[in-house]
Amino acid sequence: MAYIALYRKWRPGTFGDLVGQEHISRTLSNAITTGRIGHAYLFSGPRGTGKTSTAKILAKALNCEHGPTPEPCGKCAACQKINDGTSMDVFEIDAASNRGIDEIRDLRETVKFAPVDGRYKVYIIDEVHMLTTEAFNALLKTLEEPPAHVVFILATTEAHKVPPTIQSRCQRYDFKRITVEEIRGRLETVVAEMGLKAEAEALDMIAIQADGGLRDALSLLDQCSALAEGELTAARVRQVLGLIGHDWIYKLTEAIYARKSQVALGVLAELLRDGKDLKQVLTELSLHLRSLMIYQATGTLEQMDLYAEPDEVLQEQGKFFSTEDLMAMLKRLHEALAEIKWSPQPRITVEVALMALCNPVTSGAVPQAAGAAVDDGRLAQLEAKLSQMAAQLAARPVAAAAQAGTRAPAAQRSAAAAQGTAPRADVSVEPMPQAEVVPITASDAEVWDRLLMTLKERNKMPVFACMNQGQFAGMSDTQFFVKFKGVLMADLAMRNYRALLEQLLEELTGRPLHLHCSGEDMPLTPPPKPVKKKTAPPPAEEPSIHVDLDAMPPEERAPLEKAFEIFGDHVVEIEDDKQ
Ligand SMILES: [Zn+2]
Repeated sequence: MAYIALYRKWRPGTFGDLVGQEHISRTLSNAITTGRIGHAYLFSGPRGTGKTSTAKILAKALNCEHGPTPEPCGKCAACQKINDGTSMDVFEIDAASNRGIDEIRDLRETVKFAPVDGRYKVYIIDEVHMLTTEAFNALLKTLEEPPAHVVFILATTEAHKVPPTIQSRCQRYDFKRITVEEIRGRLETVVAEMGLKAEAEALDMIAIQADGGLRDALSLLDQCSALAEGELTAARVRQVLGLIGHDWIYKLTEAIYARKSQVALGVLAELLRDGKDLKQVLTELSLHLRSLMIYQATGTLEQMDLYAEPDEVLQEQGKFFSTEDLMAMLKRLHEALAEIKWSPQPRITVEVALMALCNPVTSGAVPQAAGAAVDDGRLAQLEAKLSQMAAQLAARPVAAAAQAGTRAPAAQRSAAAAQGTAPRADVSVEPMPQAEVVPITASDAEVWDRLLMTLKERNKMPVFACMNQGQFAGMSDTQFFVKFKGVLMADLAMRNYRALLEQLLEELTGRPLHLHCSGEDMPLTPPPKPVKKKTAPPPAEEPSIHVDLDAMPPEERAPLEKAFEIFGDHVVEIEDDKQ
């Protein structure tokens, strides 16, 4: 005997067999019992929810030799022919491939003729929303004056695309997604009748994977059971469906909690070697995190259409993260899921996402845009980098030249030059646009210079390194303005160093001054080179530090360059020293 796919073999034969659509089967049964048959029906709903099956049952119910009856026998010649698709009175039209006016014109010709052996001619038009406008118009004419022996059943997954003029001529039935519970129940029946043994978890997985469609669930069961010898196990289903499985996902979750990105990437590598799909990894990790979130909130996963997960795991891993953490993580995973569709290197996308989860400081939870609030963790990190950089700067003899406060051209020569190495290129602080609020006088500028100097003298290197990136923007009797090229540094100064700076300013000027630090977002490209002016710039705009980047050993240069990269600032620019 030829092999019959499960979903065909187990296609519901009567309204009673329909799974999850009781509201529809009841109404249609009543209509047939009471003889109130409509001329046009619109069945709408997701794929695999039983629209075509219901149409076939209705056709049989109308044409069964023992009918019309809500329970067609399925055995008489009329029922058999409808089952086989050989009935002369039941027409199935796939609008996805027959979209045009010609098919509908043919249809209009044939509807006139009486049924061959049954009582009704039944036209089932699948995916009816695909018809062209002309075809819809032609169909509408038929629907307006249907012959008494004709029943139209229009099926669609997208009812909103069916013109209202058509919809208003139809009795509409909305098919709902079938719940995991209902699908599992159906699978249990099928498995029992097939004489197959199956683990409950195996059926669970199939039911969830089918995503509301019974036809898909039966196809999946078909695939899995064809390979199953003896019992259908969860492991077998996982293998056939390419599922990742709890153990791996739990391992991954633990690695994320412990912030062991190496372990997480190791798990990913192993899964990929095993032929698993990147998308599936992200999906199952999201499902697990969702379980943790729901478990935290409700203490149970019942009625949630989720994989059964052991309570002890949920209890243990549920403590790993706060609800906010879980929400941020799910958001990051969903972003990654969307990104991998277009990413030229999807594996890297997933790796970046996992790294971000392992290292929440840099995860999507922190807005990337400059100007957004910067959290303390990231600030602390930046500060550590800053002091490192400042220490390196201070260690350079060139810094000493600036400390001396001399601005003579001779002092601008790099220390490297003084030490006899080649003075190929100087790095100088680039003059920034001045704040125009307050005019800057020479004595005001001196306050700024002395402020920086004092910071160094008192060994406040992180503060110095921060302020040294700023540009004095003027002062009044009560206020002191500093401008930065990025909001990050301005924010750092105001949040962490303000008290110290205001105290120093008072010492230097003898009056209380309010510090104002502001920053502007930098363009991604470095600013254009300033036109070199031969006229001496005002002292306030003099470069205060000269660093010969080229002369630096790479191990010193790298952190500096990294720092500039992190801050997005191009404070230094390499210029040829023409003098
Ligand atoms: Zn029959």
